Amino acid sequence: MTSVEALACERCGRRYAPDDVEYTCPDHDGVAGILDVCYDYDAVRERVAAALDGPTEDLWTYGPLLPVDGEPVRLGAGGTDLLDAPALGDALGVEALVKNETSNPTGSNKDRGSAVVVSRARQQGHDVVACASTGNAAASLAGYAARADLECRIFVPADLPEAKAVQPRLYGATVLGVDGTYADAYELCREVSAERGWYNRNAAMNPYAVEGKRTLGFELAEQAPDADWVAMPMGNGCSLAGAWKGLREFERLGFLDETPRMLGVQAEGATAIYDRFVTESADGPDDRNDGGTGRPTDGNGETTADSIDVGVPHNAGKACRALRDSDGDAVVVSDAEILDAQRLLGECEGVFAEPASAAAVAGVRTARERGTVASGERVAVVATGTGLKDTASARRAVDDVIAVDAAGEGLPDDL
Ligand SMILES: [Zn+2]
Repeated sequence: MTSVEALACERCGRRYAPDDVEYTCPDHDGVAGILDVCYDYDAVRERVAAALDGPTEDLWTYGPLLPVDGEPVRLGAGGTDLLDAPALGDALGVEALVKNETSNPTGSNKDRGSAVVVSRARQQGHDVVACASTGNAAASLAGYAARADLECRIFVPADLPEAKAVQPRLYGATVLGVDGTYADAYELCREVSAERGWYNRNAAMNPYAVEGKRTLGFELAEQAPDADWVAMPMGNGCSLAGAWKGLREFERLGFLDETPRMLGVQAEGATAIYDRFVTESADGPDDRNDGGTGRPTDGNGETTADSIDVGVPHNAGKACRALRDSDGDAVVVSDAEILDAQRLLGECEGVFAEPASAAAVAGVRTARERGTVASGERVAVVATGTGLKDTASARRAVDDVIAVDAAGEGLPDDL
């Protein structure tokens, strides 16, 4: 038996028994009523405390706090390093730490979510899993589906970076390139999955998709209990909201004295959560959970950071609440700043992170300039995914190859 007690609607507060509803609150249109998974913390406190005494091998170390019965699907997600990053810290004027999520099995933090969703799908007897993705969730779901011997269908925007379109196919998934935005892919996935009975992993629709991401917060609470800030990129808002939920839970369970402040970073081409956060900071909370942005949007994001190129973020409400509850902040960075930060992270610390992750680094610099993050504060930057899936973007951040003939002609004298 899992420790899941209920599913609570983020919008109207109505609570459901876990078996009574599969996706969102039926009292609202579409996916507006996101359900939050609630646990019986008193029932699991001792089991979690015992698990914390041992090594953190992967996210299943936190099994008593995850909504999965029996043997989970294992591919090695979680248990990632938190690196001291002194050179990066010097460059940013903070005490920097890098949570290296690039070392997850398919290359991103999405593996934490997929591990939980695919384990649930297998336990419940589903044959087919599906999701819409900007790339990383696709690869992650496909990899975990392969491990679980489930079929996998992926809906992606057709302009995805090449490697992100190849990776899920290599894991045996069927990839459907949708002629449209991520928002279009999301809607199509929702309709087709409902028609054909596929288990839908979609962020902000499947209540369990965010639950694995809490383990990032658990790990940060263990690895950096004295962090002042956690800086993360925001696309749909799920990763930041999930990490914050995990941090709060560890505080509630008595495993963390003080939670850090959350710094959410978006790219200039896709600022919906930032816009909403700024509007709410002025006008008070907005009770929509439908990705409402505070200003009209056509759903077309536009940034080189494809993983956060989300025009209509479905978890904007949750992300904004996490930023507020943590006394945090949101910032926006340009693509040029993202590419600079990508190279900085690589040169300083040997971490090749994708542009979305580099946005978090650039965001710390912006927050320092604004005075939000103070000099010398301890900042954990989450490098959410590897840069190896999008070398075309990274190429814009690096020097050219120096051509040298076999006799060494062309070798610069000053090397
Ligand atoms: Zn509701």
